[in-house]
Amino acid sequence: NDPNHSERANLPRNMIENSMFEEEPDVVDLAKDSAFPTLDPDEVVYEPRSSRLLVRGLGENDMDDDEEDSESSARLLGMSFMNRSAAHRAGSSPYARQAPPSSCSRPSTRTTVVCVLFLVIVVSMSMVLYFLPGCTFTRVRGPLPAVLSSAHLPVYPNSTTGEPFPWAELRLPASVRPVHYDLTVNPDLDAMTFTGRTVISMAVLHATKRIVLHAADLTVTKATFQARVVTLLEYKPHQQVAVRFPEELKQGQRCVLTLDYHASLSSTYDGFYNSSYADKDGKKRVLAATQFEPLYARKAFPCFDEPAFKATFLVRISRRDGYVALSNMPKAKTTNITGGLLLDEFEKSSVNMSTYLVAFVVATFQSVSKNVSDTLVSVYSVPEKKDHTIYALDTACKLLQFYNSYFDIAYPLKKLDLVAIPDFLAGAMENWGLITFRETSLLVNNQSSPLQKQLIASVVAHELAHQWFGNLVTMSWWNDLWLNEGFATYMQYMSLQHEYPLLDIGNHFLTVRFRALDKDALNSSHAVSARADTPEQVAEMFDSVSYEKGASILLMLNASLSGDLFRKGIVGYLKKFSGSNTVTDDLWNSIAQQHPNIPGMMNTWTQQKGFPLVSVSRDGDLVTLTQEPFLLSTDATESAPSRWHIPVTYVTAGCSLTPDCVQVFTLENRNATLKLSKDVKWLKLNFQSTGFYMVDYGTAGWAALIEALTENCTVLPREDRASLIHNMFALSRLGRVSFRQVLNLLAYVVNETEAAPVSEALAQLNTLHLQLEKRNELDLAAHLKSYILERFEALMMNQTWGEEPCVSKQELREALLQTACALDVPDCLQKASDLYRQYANGSARVPGDLQRVVFSVAARSEDGWAELMQTYAQSSDDAQKRKILQALASTRDTRHIARILIEGLRGELVQTTELPLIISAVSGGFAGSLLAWDFTQQNWDALIKKFPVGSFAIQSIIMSTTSHFSTQTHLDQVRNFLGSLKKRGSQMRSVQVAVETIMLNQRWMDANLPDLRHWL
Ligand SMILES: [Zn+2]
Repeated sequence: NDPNHSERANLPRNMIENSMFEEEPDVVDLAKDSAFPTLDPDEVVYEPRSSRLLVRGLGENDMDDDEEDSESSARLLGMSFMNRSAAHRAGSSPYARQAPPSSCSRPSTRTTVVCVLFLVIVVSMSMVLYFLPGCTFTRVRGPLPAVLSSAHLPVYPNSTTGEPFPWAELRLPASVRPVHYDLTVNPDLDAMTFTGRTVISMAVLHATKRIVLHAADLTVTKATFQARVVTLLEYKPHQQVAVRFPEELKQGQRCVLTLDYHASLSSTYDGFYNSSYADKDGKKRVLAATQFEPLYARKAFPCFDEPAFKATFLVRISRRDGYVALSNMPKAKTTNITGGLLLDEFEKSSVNMSTYLVAFVVATFQSVSKNVSDTLVSVYSVPEKKDHTIYALDTACKLLQFYNSYFDIAYPLKKLDLVAIPDFLAGAMENWGLITFRETSLLVNNQSSPLQKQLIASVVAHELAHQWFGNLVTMSWWNDLWLNEGFATYMQYMSLQHEYPLLDIGNHFLTVRFRALDKDALNSSHAVSARADTPEQVAEMFDSVSYEKGASILLMLNASLSGDLFRKGIVGYLKKFSGSNTVTDDLWNSIAQQHPNIPGMMNTWTQQKGFPLVSVSRDGDLVTLTQEPFLLSTDATESAPSRWHIPVTYVTAGCSLTPDCVQVFTLENRNATLKLSKDVKWLKLNFQSTGFYMVDYGTAGWAALIEALTENCTVLPREDRASLIHNMFALSRLGRVSFRQVLNLLAYVVNETEAAPVSEALAQLNTLHLQLEKRNELDLAAHLKSYILERFEALMMNQTWGEEPCVSKQELREALLQTACALDVPDCLQKASDLYRQYANGSARVPGDLQRVVFSVAARSEDGWAELMQTYAQSSDDAQKRKILQALASTRDTRHIARILIEGLRGELVQTTELPLIISAVSGGFAGSLLAWDFTQQNWDALIKKFPVGSFAIQSIIMSTTSHFSTQTHLDQVRNFLGSLKKRGSQMRSVQVAVETIMLNQRWMDANLPDLRHWL
């Protein structure tokens, strides 16, 4: 899955959180889910090969077995462990934050240990007395119930009919496994409903008296088991249905459950949902498509909706003549059925698939196709945009060949469809053989700029990589989502660097790593392999840690291994686990075949949150390196100091530009020393910023580097210059260096001409500028503006406004001109207005990278805004439409801001999928920031109806509306509002991230405002 890729690509600079400081616990609803742990002697929760990882893979978030068991036992006896567990796990799990002050103060460690021991004894004895004989109980995965006041609660919840539902866990039992699904769906695009029949063949793994599976919002009209009608029980809070049997099903038995049902097509963007678009004559065309990842297959058909329950699928879809139906596999046959409809039957899947990868589309689409390596590759779109599919088709073919060869495993299906869906929330979704995309992530026209092509190629590369990482080999559970997303993200950059060097994806990947570091520096971050139990927690795994940090640590690993070892390791992993499910350890153990130290090293990066800061000090010819966690907020409950096995690289004055110059060693302990001749003026660690750590060179070390850069900035590669700027700002947030030192470093940028360092410096300075404006420090904001212009105006003036084929030059001028016009540089405003006038009268095009800046200037005037609104409504160029939308949202006219926000929510003129983009653009402006925050508060319920709690869209909305705040008033407002949401969002990790970010901004402002007044 690629959540909102295109938005990320356009917006990282607006989504930076500046940060610093200490944690303050926010109160959340710990009683969110009081599912009672079930007692069941004959069943265990299905945990294929992952149970150890659930324990080990959690790093500091984790409890050991004893603790966990005692906690479960205590719950059985109705004791509250809330306080204890909060003290142990604060800041790790969204459910395990500090208890509200009223519930009592935190016990000392010794008290806790004594209490725990005492409780373990009491609990163990009570268990024996109470539950003998046969008292085993399953490991509890749900969030902690608040207080269970008696041991006499029912073991099972009630189903909708009032009968007990035979299962109380969120995860399904392991007793029965699906083998094959025979699936028929009949969508009615007029009534917006569908009927379905699902025939599930199953194998009984352990003797049991029940079958439990998932179903959500489906009305089951008939259930038959082995051809006998049976009663189906439903427990809606867990989206589960079940059949109970008077006699045990025997181990090894095969059986068949058939369910007939009907439902409405979903009006949100998940499950089997309806969508529409206007064709070239303005006529409304309706279509239906699916989005099942992570937990929505259950909304389209009853199923064992967990990634480890893989099975084969045979899909049939009915449709009207003139429509095409698509599914994962090629079409096998079409038959006429009643009502003048056609029934398409697709081949039985040749591979075992997880339910979240099943997909179908029914629409009036057209396609272009090409055969490559025995696979028919097709790109589908609405007929009007068929011409915009060629680039995606060529790219998909080229990358398919690349992956076939790189992974040494041929893509296993006979066809691969890439489909542009007019109304699609995520950037794209990797359904096996039927990848779905936003139109803006797949379609480009001939005139599209290289940057737009870079975006398309990178989304296609990401989704194609998933056909191996995710589809062929799948994580056992969502806690290891990074095995899918970190890999696909890394492969997307790696494959493009290899196959499309001219697209110059390197700067983009570098920025992505910087932002991943910024997020992971927060106390509210989490380990790469993290706990994910509830649907909201699963949704929140689709975040920067799983994607960008995952990709960053894979880059670090690859960069630290010589030759082809990384590739050999992952090929071994893919071959060994082809068709099955894995946990993180499986990956490291496979790569360990190439290098035995890998698991030890990589576990330090996946099992604990955060990353190290390496400090450098020189004394004569000795250089001492010291590692410590880079934590902006300290967590008092953190016990053992974190250590990482860091593959440190460095270059020195004299040889600093090529890989031959790079020295490598692993820093495993807190300190290490190396020898360096006194004559060597400086050293720079983390060559090209391939390592996931930051570096502080100390006063003398920084001074030497700054002197070298001032003399000649090309003594270091562009990535290293950018990372020095990034690290310096981060150290300022940490309180390690004064802002004076940041300014000392930035003095060199007057000579800088490369996109990576310039855009990093501007991103940081613009963020600061926005924060100053938002706290009404207008004098200081004006001074900072003068400072930015002093440093960059010459380079800004140098930029061209015509077509530019070179990607990095596009990136450079995009960053510079956007800042220039935002800061009202007259020359920029004039040129943008001129170009817009030529565009409006049809005499010129606006290059893709300049569209946002040109349209934003145009949108400042009343007429310009109205004109752009009209262009937006009529245009079919999706990439340009997004730029127009950002421009419309960046207006300084509050009436217009209100209008565009409302249009985004209404979802007619502007698709609701664009609302996070609109809110982000509005929040990035001085006039709109408070409006965006007010709008979010006022429309919260409408927002979470459209975008699920925890989803990337909601994460993005929270962060873009709050991350520039830095005052106590704003902090109180944000905390009060998000805290008041309770089940409607308070438990989200992004709430912690938002609060922590504002506190860090506030701390930084308190510490630096007096000096800023002095220096700027
Ligand atoms: Zn993905």
